[in-house]
Amino acid sequence: MSRLYDRVALIGLGLIAGSMALAMKRAGSVGEIVGTARSAATREAALARGLCDRAVESVEEAVAGADLVVLAVPVGAMAEIAERMRPHLSEGATVTDVGSVKRAVIGAVAPHIPQGATFIPGHPLAGTEQSGPEAGFAELFENRATLLIDEGVPPEKLDRLARLWQGMGARVDVMDADHHDLVLAVTSHAPHLIAYTMVGVADDLGRVTDSEVIKYSAAGFRDFTRIAASDPTMWRDVFLNNREATLEILGRFTEELFALQRAIRTGDGDMLHDYFTRTRAIRRGIVEAGQDTGAPDFGRGGKA
Ligand code: NAP
Repeated sequence: MSRLYDRVALIGLGLIAGSMALAMKRAGSVGEIVGTARSAATREAALARGLCDRAVESVEEAVAGADLVVLAVPVGAMAEIAERMRPHLSEGATVTDVGSVKRAVIGAVAPHIPQGATFIPGHPLAGTEQSGPEAGFAELFENRATLLIDEGVPPEKLDRLARLWQGMGARVDVMDADHHDLVLAVTSHAPHLIAYTMVGVADDLGRVTDSEVIKYSAAGFRDFTRIAASDPTMWRDVFLNNREATLEILGRFTEELFALQRAIRTGDGDMLHDYFTRTRAIRRGIVEAGQDTGAPDFGRGGKA
């Protein structure tokens, strides 16, 4: 494919940035990739894996001369990084991010975008519970959606970024930031919190039953433990920055849980059967839409 950006700055060199680097290189859609991360160990590992052509120590150095800047750090780190990059951004540069929350990231980053540059928030709905520069792979975004937020950006710039994601194998949808945050609270954020909680409950039980929880761990619980192994910093930031939508969904979840609890207590088998029939149909719809490869894995299907 033809080249879309001459120099890309990757701020953060973990799972998502690393996968982007490998996928962009495979597509031949970008020229030089310059990367930076907090630690020298991460920068060295990224360079050794060929995730970037140059690894530099500072955000300031990384963004200089870049026509695309990708913020791929935890959501809570975006504001400070955006402030630091501001004076060094090229005229006409596009800045995007991959954060799992959109309204709070817009609040953190948009004030630091100078005139002449454009901010297009983004979120690839793909991931694993792994993190760091060793975790990325070129196929991560294939057949997954990437959501871009259009808050009045030049159409040519939005189109160019969309084509970059398509070159990485993603389907691109444009969505409003608040709607994004609500949808992701349902599909990813609340489910992660439930997995964290379930593993916490089992851990308490495990102490009582002398590790039977691990010894007899069945598929359902094993999936919870995998999800609950996701990066603690990233997920802390997701919940702190998508507070309202997550609380709204958790409120509804609690109501449904009480209804099911009541059905169990009162022996209302019809209610339970109807409920599970409805949820089974939802699952089949997901499989028919090609959004699950068969393995139980909502990490890759709708991660973060
Ligand atoms: P990751 O593998 O943990 O990588 C994070 C990177 O950010 C590391 O290179 C880290 O550098 C750097 N970093 C962290 N804090 C920093 C700071 N204060 N200043 C500068 N660099 C910093 O994370 P990831 O999974 O790629 O996630 C990155 C973003 O993508 C997050 O906003 C997340 O919400 C979003 N996202 C994640 C997933 C997922 O499934 N993981 C999916 C979609 C979107 P060091 O190693 O040197 O600390």
